Amino acid sequence: MSTFLELGLKAPINNALTDLGYEKPTVIQEKAIPQIISSTDDLKAFAQTGTGKTAAFSLPILELLNEDNSNVQAIILSPTRELAVQIGKNIEDFCKYLPKVKVTTVYGGANMDTQIRSLKRGSQIVVGTPGRTVDLINRRALKLGNVQWLVLDEADEMLNMGFKDELDKVLEATPETKQTLLFSATFPREVEAIAKNYMTKPVEITSGEKNQGSDNVSHEYYSVTERTRYPALKRIADLNPDIYAIIFCRTRRETQEVADNLIKDGYSADALHGDLSQGQRDSVMGKFRKKTIQILVATDVAARGLDVTELTHVLNHKLPDQIENYTHRSGRTGRAGNKGISIVLVNGKEKGKLRAIERIIKKKFVETKVPTGKEIVENQLMNLIDKVQATKVNESEINEFLPTIYEKLAALDREELIQKFVSLEFNTMLAYYENAKDLNDLSSRENSRARATNENMTRFFINIGRKDSLNPAKLIGLINDQNIGDKIEIGAIDILDTFSFFEIDKNFENETLAAFGENQPDFDGRSVNIEITKKERSGGGRRRGKKPFGKKDGGFGRKRSSEGSSDRGGRKRSDRSSSDRPKNSGDRKSGGFGRRRRER
Ligand code: AMP
Repeated sequence: MSTFLELGLKAPINNALTDLGYEKPTVIQEKAIPQIISSTDDLKAFAQTGTGKTAAFSLPILELLNEDNSNVQAIILSPTRELAVQIGKNIEDFCKYLPKVKVTTVYGGANMDTQIRSLKRGSQIVVGTPGRTVDLINRRALKLGNVQWLVLDEADEMLNMGFKDELDKVLEATPETKQTLLFSATFPREVEAIAKNYMTKPVEITSGEKNQGSDNVSHEYYSVTERTRYPALKRIADLNPDIYAIIFCRTRRETQEVADNLIKDGYSADALHGDLSQGQRDSVMGKFRKKTIQILVATDVAARGLDVTELTHVLNHKLPDQIENYTHRSGRTGRAGNKGISIVLVNGKEKGKLRAIERIIKKKFVETKVPTGKEIVENQLMNLIDKVQATKVNESEINEFLPTIYEKLAALDREELIQKFVSLEFNTMLAYYENAKDLNDLSSRENSRARATNENMTRFFINIGRKDSLNPAKLIGLINDQNIGDKIEIGAIDILDTFSFFEIDKNFENETLAAFGENQPDFDGRSVNIEITKKERSGGGRRRGKKPFGKKDGGFGRKRSSEGSSDRGGRKRSDRSSSDRPKNSGDRKSGGFGRRRRER
């Protein structure tokens, strides 16, 4: 293993790295730094978040750039504002002893004039999100004619987020002579196309095998139904009282809903997604970094900029649409030498995707059973006992109270004392899990999805019916023609004489209204309108729209005094309450059974 000096970096950079506590280069740094310093060839690097890739591309650029020339010499594109800010900040740290080097970070949602002023003062390095970078190029505030290095960081994410046109524009605005450095955790077709079209015979390096997951991560899957998905998630959290995890969801709505349910059920959780303002996102990320919250429920995109190295678990509430993204998700744990567990909750249909993921990560998923109430109680109990064993006694503080306490408890022998102490902590939890169902028997009536499905649908009124020659097939055709979404699921359909009802996946409620509103379709010459109506009936055959998946998840808040006896069916969200959760049994800070009360 080389040192940073041996990789060809000068003393001022090496000193800054020492101040940051970087003792030795990571694998990707060891490969990328000498390569970029010694060659102007383009570079394709397979590297995940957490591998040290920011330093891998920015340190050689700092080594080579001309500090006395204030033109933009390096442009670094990153998919999100958070990541751009993080890269900008890292580079500033790296040039602590290179005072002439200036870095400007540009991103959307912030004042453009401030960014323009900073660019005018002269910056050798610009870090930007694609959209804002193109805006500034168009305004001639950002001139890339002298660029020597173009870095595409997390290229796969940028393309996932639909920045293809922006990437094309930036690539065209930079001179042909530049060196392009492309960093990506996955290499789907679109990324390969960028490499093919815009890079000349790139050198390939990797921090591990292409797309392969970290060795420090083990992968587990739990079989669930839509009805058991959320309770299973909670049991996993309950089994791990010191959990520090990101739960990944596919949509903003799913994210908010899972987070809302967890918060209501007393977990130390919060949501992170694109519907939140920047201020809200910064606040949530700040709390998660400080571990004020233990569980972050997030969309893939929103979690990109979050740099935490100690996650114990990554939970896939639903698998990502593009399975390559599983590597991104699972790579958030098992970082900086820590071990991590990536957990996937899958229903019967989703299980098929696991084989494809195994081929990418070159590892097998281990099938794991949803813990029983007894296992959780046992685990929590042992966790508490371990903590008691490890607790330091602050004699000077408690000495004055001890004589009275000893006197009060004098009548109890050792065993009785232990029993009472354990019961004090555990009675509520024991009661809570007393009648807990086995969530692994997926065919049981309680666990099967049938009763939960309608909770996830929104019922619409439509002003055409049998007299307009409408039938279910035609109605499905009409709905699909509105291009509401690839994964829309259509539920029960009731065709009546002059009007009808249909159900749509609740996730697509707004999109459905908007699509019908915008398209203003007609049906055999009659203009069609729809509105949301109250749900009147349950059951009814489910019919598929374009694709079978995409159904919203049910939330199964606890209402009664035990998990086993709670009636989870057909309840409105407002009925749920956190008051029924099992309380305090040995959580780290404020007590609470692997959870804490909301700290907001
Ligand atoms: P990155 O993959 O660039 O997001 O880096 C992940 C984390 O590892 C960041 O917190 C970096 O500050 C840290 N890091 C990067 N390189 C090193 C290194 N050589 N030694 C110690 N920490 C590092």
